[in-house]
Amino acid sequence: MPELPEVETVRAGLAPVLEGQRLARVEARRPDLRFPLPANFVQQLTGATIVSLTRRAKYLLAHLDREDTLVMHLGMSGRFEIARPEGAVRAGEFHYAVDPDPKHAHVVFDTEAGARVTYYDPRRFGYMALVNSATLTLHPWFAGLGPEPLSEGFDADHLKAAWAGRKQGPKTLLLDQRIVAGLGNIYVCEALHRARISPFRPAGKITRPRLVRLVEIIRAVLTEAIAAGGSTLRDYAKADGALGYFQHSFRVYDRAGRPCPNEACSGTIARQVQSGRSTFHCPVCQR
Ligand code: ZN
Repeated sequence: MPELPEVETVRAGLAPVLEGQRLARVEARRPDLRFPLPANFVQQLTGATIVSLTRRAKYLLAHLDREDTLVMHLGMSGRFEIARPEGAVRAGEFHYAVDPDPKHAHVVFDTEAGARVTYYDPRRFGYMALVNSATLTLHPWFAGLGPEPLSEGFDADHLKAAWAGRKQGPKTLLLDQRIVAGLGNIYVCEALHRARISPFRPAGKITRPRLVRLVEIIRAVLTEAIAAGGSTLRDYAKADGALGYFQHSFRVYDRAGRPCPNEACSGTIARQVQSGRSTFHCPVCQR
């Protein structure tokens, strides 16, 4: 499932072909994704100019020169492919990459400059909507979201307050989008391992110095993944196969049974189901 760095990579890949561009033609090949597309979807987008493309949590926001913003969520398996005269570019390859199949090409955007952006989604958990820009932050998808993990609003004081008295583990609470927006299973496992914090320790009892360190590590893990995504976008012109860049950088995610990569630790990475999701951790050095 795409997480914040992947969505940010997709944003960075799409921005050069969409920002400042007018949509000459929009095609919806089916009436729904996870949710029905708005009835006026094609009509509202055709002829609109995308002023900017931003990200909030795992949402892509195409700000239009019209009253609505096009909100896009990749769900589990959504991806974009960009076709340009100089060749195709896949904006973001994920851990579980899915080959684009024409039968899963659901929405097509053609820009006046000649680029074609196609949205593929085999499982159709992704969705698109048009939301009034003036009240965007009040929309149910956005109103309750916590701060972005790479923003100033996310710090140890914020976690200390949000986690006060909480008995759940930091793994569960870092996935709570009301506390911090955009973190997912993979990078939370990675960050807790690097911070040597047990995913199961009651979050309210984690000391402030450890929270300071955890915030730094979360930012570092995300920043490194975004940089890795950005470099693969730049390298794509030279590459001829699938990218699949993120799996190389995982230290614990999907690595049960492997030796713990933390320095001077003899532990073995374990997988445990927590709140219905796999938690990968080292029972020896994560306390
Ligand atoms: Zn360890």
